[in-house]
Amino acid sequence: MILMTPGPTPVPEFARAAMATPTIHHRTAEFEAIFGAVRDRLKKFMRAKEVIILASTGTGAMEACVTHFATKALTINAGKFGERWTKLAKAHGKNPTELKYDWNTPAPVNDILAALESDSAIDAVFIQICESAGGLRHPVEEIARAIKAKNERIFVIADGITAVGVEPIDTTHIDALITGSQKAFMLPPAMAIIGLSERAIERIEATGGAGYYFNLAIELKNQRKNTTAWTAPTTLVQGLQAVLGEIDKIGEEKFYALTAKRHAAGIAALNAIGAKIYPQKPALSMLTVYHEDAANLRKWLKKEADLNAAGGQDDLKDKLIRINNMGFVAPQEIAWAINALEIAIAKAGGRKYDGAGVKTFTENYYK
Ligand SMILES: *Cc1c(COP(=O)(O)O)cnc(C)c1O
Repeated sequence: MILMTPGPTPVPEFARAAMATPTIHHRTAEFEAIFGAVRDRLKKFMRAKEVIILASTGTGAMEACVTHFATKALTINAGKFGERWTKLAKAHGKNPTELKYDWNTPAPVNDILAALESDSAIDAVFIQICESAGGLRHPVEEIARAIKAKNERIFVIADGITAVGVEPIDTTHIDALITGSQKAFMLPPAMAIIGLSERAIERIEATGGAGYYFNLAIELKNQRKNTTAWTAPTTLVQGLQAVLGEIDKIGEEKFYALTAKRHAAGIAALNAIGAKIYPQKPALSMLTVYHEDAANLRKWLKKEADLNAAGGQDDLKDKLIRINNMGFVAPQEIAWAINALEIAIAKAGGRKYDGAGVKTFTENYYK
């Protein structure tokens, strides 16, 4: 079975091999050297002043950002992960104001500015760069710039869990950029990373952090010495070192260009087979198709094409098909997925199969 869900993504063989070595104790010079090297590379990769690595899935890092940066939160909800910001803010008494959008609709900058205008108590804005529920790209850089132009003391927290490693993110106006191991880095789940701005670091240090396990002040103090407060996810850190090394072998710019090229060719191919692209502004991390019969198409893909693509969630559970485009996905995998989808649509009584999907993908990818 080919795993083509937009997280978890399949773990490439070189990464599995890097994680198959004997376990290293985390309180050793050997591990600290690896941890330090990974941290240095990550700071540049995430365009952050500091990075904190947590033994947790992405949600743990989201929670830490809620507890550290908000007194009153503004949350942007255009899908399951935006909704999670609201739930986290409520769970921690951050009294969130929520802006809610259809899952295919990017948040307009003016709505956010208006919300800040009408409530001066809001001191942190929480948003996804890519809202994975509908494969939607929010205009986060533009939103962040506008927020800071209005009031530079408002924290901008960006969930980049399906954006970091997908495209270069301009972090000029972003205070915390979050990612996780099981998306573009193509590692097993359970490691989260937060990239921090100068102001975010100041806040963490001035307050002494919040909470206990996810206390970022305790972590930052330790991680600056290339160690962790609690037991580090050593195996995943070794895996990440291999992944970042592989990205450097390809070249960061080319790695991003390949992702963008697969995505553009994929969109052209989906249009060629008459598939409906779901989001108004598709993120590069995945190809998201709306289809009334999506549940049955996915069943066919699994059973006949050995291909595991993701569905939707909530009301769109049986209406979306989401195909991963993050990480080291080969163009032939996307071409095959679209070809299989074209066959599945024909089998379900839709457009007649003529190979237009794979043909259009190939022509666009290699043009
Ligand atoms: C996967 C994902 C998360 C994190 O989910 P976890 O299950 O905690 O790893 C958060 N936000 C987005 C946008 C995601 O795609």
